[in-house]
Amino acid sequence: MDASPIHDIIVIGGGINGCGIARDAAGRGFSVLLAEMDDLASGTSSGSTKLIHGGLRYLEFYEFRLVREALMEREVLWRNAPHIIWPMRFVLPHAEGLRPAWLLRLGLFLYDHIGGRKLLPPTKTLDMRSDSAGKPLKPLFSKAFEYSDGWVNDARLVVLNARDAADRGAIIRTRTKVVSARRADGLWTVVLHDLNADRREEVKARLLVNAAGPWVDHVLSEVVGQNAVHNVRLVQGSHIVVPKKFDDPRAYFFQNKDGRIIFAIPYEEEFTLIGTTDQDYPGDPHEVKISEAEIDYLCAAASEYFAEPVIRADIVWTYSAVRPLYDDGASKAQEATRDYVLKADGGHNGDAPLLNAFGGKITTYRRLSEAMLEKIEGFLGKRGKPWTTTAPLPGGDFAATGFEAEVAKLKKAYPFLDARHARRLTRLYGTRAHSLLGLAKSNADLGRNFGVDLYEAEVRYLAANEWALTAQDILWRRTKRGLRLSPEQISALDEFMRGLGSRHSAAAE
Ligand SMILES: Cc1cc2nc3c(=O)[nH]c(=O)nc-3n(C[C@H](O)[C@H](O)[C@H](O)COP(=O)(O)OP(=O)(O)OC[C@H]3O[C@@H](n4cnc5c(N)ncnc54)[C@H](O)[C@@H]3O)c2cc1C
Repeated sequence: MDASPIHDIIVIGGGINGCGIARDAAGRGFSVLLAEMDDLASGTSSGSTKLIHGGLRYLEFYEFRLVREALMEREVLWRNAPHIIWPMRFVLPHAEGLRPAWLLRLGLFLYDHIGGRKLLPPTKTLDMRSDSAGKPLKPLFSKAFEYSDGWVNDARLVVLNARDAADRGAIIRTRTKVVSARRADGLWTVVLHDLNADRREEVKARLLVNAAGPWVDHVLSEVVGQNAVHNVRLVQGSHIVVPKKFDDPRAYFFQNKDGRIIFAIPYEEEFTLIGTTDQDYPGDPHEVKISEAEIDYLCAAASEYFAEPVIRADIVWTYSAVRPLYDDGASKAQEATRDYVLKADGGHNGDAPLLNAFGGKITTYRRLSEAMLEKIEGFLGKRGKPWTTTAPLPGGDFAATGFEAEVAKLKKAYPFLDARHARRLTRLYGTRAHSLLGLAKSNADLGRNFGVDLYEAEVRYLAANEWALTAQDILWRRTKRGLRLSPEQISALDEFMRGLGSRHSAAAE
C-alpha cells in the first residue's frame, strides 16, 4: 500500500510566483508542497530591476489593465513589507527629439490617477537648471518630471513569501527538482529529485501548479510529457552596477534614441544600478549572462545623460535574468506583453488539474496568486477568502512610514550596533532582526565575523530560517554582502556553510 500523504497542491518553482501562490494557498488551509530545483529566487526573481511599478512605458502599448493593477499594488505591497519595499521618486528628463513633453505629462497624469495612489506623492515638474537632480547630468536637460514608484528587494520578497507559507504549514523543499508528473486515479504522482542527497521520492497531489518561470514550457514538455509546447517568449535583461554616480536618493528614468528606456537607481548605499536590456534569448535560462553588446549598450545609454560617462572599467558587478513573457506574437521583445496569463489543463472527467502561470511581474505576484487561488478553488472547492491584501510579510509588521522608528528601536535594544548595521538589519529582516540578534550584548556575542558587518549570528539565522545552504545564497540573494566581501572572505564563508551542511535545511522546513 502507498503510505505517502496526498497534498492538496504541489507547486513547481520557488520564484516569486510559486512562493506567492504557496503562501496564499497555505493561508487558506490547503496542504501545499513547493519544490524548487535550486535556491529560492535563483531564477528570474532575483534578477529584476527591483521596481514595484505600474510600468509607465507599458501605457504606450495600451496595457491599461496591467498598469492599473500594478499601480494599485504599489501601496498594498509597501504596507505589507515596509522593510524591503519603499517608495522612490523617479526623475524623467525631457530630451529634445524624443517623446514630447506633453506626451510624458499625459502619461504621468494617467499614472497618478488610475491606480489608487494614497500615500505616494504625485508628479511634479522640475527645472533641472536649479534642482539638484540636474547636477550629475549633462547641461542639455532643462526640464524633467519627477514621479513616484516603489523599490523592492526582489530576492527577499521571495524568501519572505516562502517563510510565511511555511509558517502557515506549507512544505518548502529547495534543491529539489520535479523530474516527472503523471496523472493516475484522479491524482498527480510527482517524482522529486533531492539534488543534495541525490535521492528520488514519489509524492501525490490533487492539483499541480506550474510556476516554473522561464522553465514553464520545459516543465510541460519534459516533466508533464506534453507535445508541441510554446507559451512563453524568453527575453533576456541585464544590469550593470557601478560606484555611485550621484548622491540624490531619487532614481533616473532615461529615454534612449531606440525608443527603449533604462533606469539608473541608487543601490546598496554606495552604488548605482543601471538597466535593463531587452533581447530574445534562445539558450538555457540557467546559463544567461550579460553580453559584450549589452555592456556597451548600457554604458552608452547612461553616458548620453550623465556628465561623467559610464565606462566598462567602472563596472563592479553585473547580473542577467530571463523574462518568461506570455507569447502574444509581438514582433519586438520590448513590446511583448508583461501581463500574466493563467491556463488550466485537465481537471474534468477525473483528470487531475494542472494550472500553469505564464508571464507576470514581481509587482503583480500577489494578484497573480489570488487569481490562481480562484482557479484552484474552482477545482478543489472553497477554503477561505482572499486574505493577503492586509497581511504583513515576516518582519513587516510595522507602519509603512515607520521604518526610521524601527531602526531606532533596534538600536535602542542593541546599543552596540553601529548605525549602518542597525539600518541594514532592519532593511533585511524588519522586526525579525530582534530574533536574529537574540540575547547578544556586544558584537562579540554575534560570533565569527565573515567580513564587514556579516556575523555568524546572521548566517546561522539564514540557514535555520531562510533555507540558505551556500555562501552564494547568503551573499547574493538573502543579502548583497557579495558586493563587499573579498574573495578570501567569500571562501571562508563557503567553507563555514559546507560545515553547517544539511543540518539546517531540515530545520528550515
Ligand atoms: C531584467 C528583468 C527586469 C525585471 N524588472 C522587473 C521590475 O522592475 N519589476 C517587476 O515587477 N518585475 C520585473 N521583472 C519581471 C519579474 O522579475 C518576473 O516576472 C518574475 O521574477 C518571474 O517570477 P517567476 O516566479 O515566474 O519565475 P522565477 O523567478 O524564474 O521562478 C521559477 C523557478 O522555478 C524553478 N524551476 C524550474 N523548473 C523546475 C523544476 N522542474 N523543479 C523545481 N523547480 C523548478 C526555477 O529554478 C526558478 O527558481 C523583470 C524581469 C527581468 C528579467
